[in-house]
Amino acid sequence: MSNNKRALKGGEFLIKDVDYTQVFIPEEFTEEQKMIAESCRDFIQQRVLPNVEELDKHNLDLLIQLMKEAGEMGLLGISVPEEYGGFGQNFVTAMRALEEIGKGFSFAVAYAAHTGIGTLPILYFGNQEQKQKYLPKLATGEYIGAYALTEPEAGSDANAGKTKAVLSEDGKYYILNGTKMWITNAGIADVFIVYAKIDDDPNLSAFIVEKNTPGFKLGQEEEKMGIRGASTRQIFFEDAKVPVENLLGERNKGFKIALYILNLGRIKLAGATIGAAKGAINYSVDYAKQRKQFGTYIANFGAIKHKLAEMVIRTFVTESLTYRASQNIEDEEEALKQEGMDKDRAAIEAIRQFAIEASIAKVFGSEALDYVVDEAVQIHGGMGYSAEMPVERAYRDSRINRIFEGTNEINRLVIVGELLKRGMKGEYDLLTPAKEVAKELMAIPDFGKGSEDYFEKKHKLVKNFKKAILMVAGAALQKFGQAFQEEEEIIMNVADMLMLTYATESTLLRVEKLSKMYDPEKLAIYKDILDVFSFDTAWKMYKIGVDTINAFAKGDEQQAMLMGIKRFTKVDPVNTKDARRRIANKLIDDGFYNF
Ligand SMILES: Cc1cc2nc3c(=O)[nH]c(=O)nc-3n(C[C@H](O)[C@H](O)[C@H](O)COP(=O)(O)OP(=O)(O)OC[C@H]3O[C@@H](n4cnc5c(N)ncnc54)[C@H](O)[C@@H]3O)c2cc1C
Repeated sequence: MSNNKRALKGGEFLIKDVDYTQVFIPEEFTEEQKMIAESCRDFIQQRVLPNVEELDKHNLDLLIQLMKEAGEMGLLGISVPEEYGGFGQNFVTAMRALEEIGKGFSFAVAYAAHTGIGTLPILYFGNQEQKQKYLPKLATGEYIGAYALTEPEAGSDANAGKTKAVLSEDGKYYILNGTKMWITNAGIADVFIVYAKIDDDPNLSAFIVEKNTPGFKLGQEEEKMGIRGASTRQIFFEDAKVPVENLLGERNKGFKIALYILNLGRIKLAGATIGAAKGAINYSVDYAKQRKQFGTYIANFGAIKHKLAEMVIRTFVTESLTYRASQNIEDEEEALKQEGMDKDRAAIEAIRQFAIEASIAKVFGSEALDYVVDEAVQIHGGMGYSAEMPVERAYRDSRINRIFEGTNEINRLVIVGELLKRGMKGEYDLLTPAKEVAKELMAIPDFGKGSEDYFEKKHKLVKNFKKAILMVAGAALQKFGQAFQEEEEIIMNVADMLMLTYATESTLLRVEKLSKMYDPEKLAIYKDILDVFSFDTAWKMYKIGVDTINAFAKGDEQQAMLMGIKRFTKVDPVNTKDARRRIANKLIDDGFYNF
């Protein structure tokens, strides 16, 4: 638990600083959380990994059996309160469990869809009858859940769905017509959360639809690049009769449910990428220590060490930012409950509050994992291309993460859009800090000798990253006004700058907290990770900043900002080669991810 609850509002990291006592780090997991993680690890090792090939052949009976086994262990009901037959664990614990399950390839996707987007809409938005009826069965695996939002013509633009619901003449049913596409768990699910528009409503409504509903039909299994062991199908509604009592939440408010649940799905996806990345690193280091070329193990080559180290760094950073945000969500939920908010509303409000961080975690985690699995294949050479090797599957399975739960482009739009919306609504003041940076830009730079303290210097760097964002985004907004939203290239850049800054800050705060727990010798490797990541980030921020400035500024303003971006991304030299070697050597010595 972090000491100071509710350190910041979601997105506020851009304009406020936190200190290390205010963040949760993975080294603080409780014994109970570690035990739960261990049972998940054993389950994946013993039951899932020996079956992944068979699952990839669309053996749905086996998938159902494994899901039910996970249910018997309490893992399907991990977030479901005990009163509905669940395991009633908190948010961070559910994330930790998901991390381990993330090592289970397609099974992880089936599990995440069921426990997240398949179950939680009922938990958070269902009425008492709906909860009593469905949650105990979803918690044990008697029922499997799915979430059906996407349609052939409505993907990113999900509210444009054409599936229609019309009240039957006797007023007992909604008659649904339409098609949903890409529905995870479709072939194994008993219960679907389906989004459709009632009559000519502008927005979607949500329905709980059982698979044996008359007029409900399943398509064939999709043949996919990866996650072949997860069932993905179209579903069709042909005058499907859904009882009126299965309307979930209020009419016309389904899109809100969809978005709330997506926020959740996003951070959960990040949790799963951490486990998948650690899995791919373990396969890679194992192989690198066995494979000999030119008379030596390939793990001894600098080029391979560089890859192994970078895989570790990106995974460590994903972990730092994902668990930081997860604890923020849990703390917010507690605080709202203490203020008297109903517990279901508190849960969804807490997730909404950290929607920006959830999108950051989704984008960062999925891109880190894609990097990791790509290098994992490379380390395996030709064998990496063989379907016999787990990294071949990991490579294919990873790719979907940048596409579902909102593509990474959509999530980047969310990161920037949400921040601006909150600024506009007055939830926090972005304008004053932006003006201060603009003023600082015009002033003579302070060349005075700054602090020599390691962590103080890193904090200054992160502060400067924030100034770089405020400078670039502030000027672009001023230049484009309302038309800013048309400038997607700039928005993508600003999103990247925000993401990199949040990532660096989260890693810094974690390592700083570790400095109070570890002796200098043990700490050194974590400083290496922080040094390499923050150094690389500074250069990335510089390049992104320059590109963005050149996209809209001219003359003196352009020159002043180019000087500003140089100043705000100035970083001390780091011998990244040696630092990466040390990180790789630890990985090679340990033989598995142990950071
Ligand atoms: C294996 C798999 C499982 C899935 N599981 C589910 C599920 O369980 N339930 C469910 O409801 N859906 C599911 N989906 C659907 C998934 O969420 C969508 O595929 C995704 O949201 C993207 O929609 P789309 O495929 O229609 O792509 P499009 O929306 O057509 O996007 C195509 C490209 O255009 C970009 N783009 C679109 N709009 C913008 C914009 N405004 N600005 C910039 N770029 C833009 C996208 O980023 C993308 O690069 C799944 C998909 C797959 C492949």
